[in-house]
Amino acid sequence: MDQRPTSRTCGPCRGCCLPWAVPEVGKLTATWCSKSKPGRGCTIYATRPQACRKYACLWLNGKGEESDRPDLLGVLMDVEDFTFGDREIGILHLWELDSGSADKPRVRAIVNANLRGGIVVCVHCPRDLQSYTRKFILSPEHFTLEEADHLDEEYA
Ligand code: SF4
Ligand code: SF4
Repeated sequence: MDQRPTSRTCGPCRGCCLPWAVPEVGKLTATWCSKSKPGRGCTIYATRPQACRKYACLWLNGKGEESDRPDLLGVLMDVEDFTFGDREIGILHLWELDSGSADKPRVRAIVNANLRGGIVVCVHCPRDLQSYTRKFILSPEHFTLEEADHLDEEYA
């Protein structure tokens, strides 16, 4: 995604208030935080736990369009560097906030652009109330079939 000048703030977004557990506020994995409200974001923003303060998604870091804000797009994205065998790779993590949102044309376009650039995409979809499924997508132009088979177990 393109990098935009960033004066962005979380505002009413609560995209990162679903995927992970935040024990300080009794939040479980894949469950909306009770401190978040649709259209209002985090209701304890000024005093939110350290883990929440430290996190910044790609959009907050200035990537993509204004309309890609996670609560609007239905998808939260961040990136991770990972050592895969003797290679250093980048992984774009994509967390569905609404079921099926990873299939939106805008999200597909972002995924395809990253795959073309040799970035691995990991799509996380809610499975049940407290867990996500995980699926890696690798471009055959940049990775062998054997690498595609091994990434999931190596990442674990
Ligand atoms: S998903 Fe990004 S913009 Fe939204 S609340 Fe979290 S860090 Fe802020
Ligand atoms: S404390 Fe606030 S920022 Fe942290 S998960 Fe809950 S609503 Fe989101």
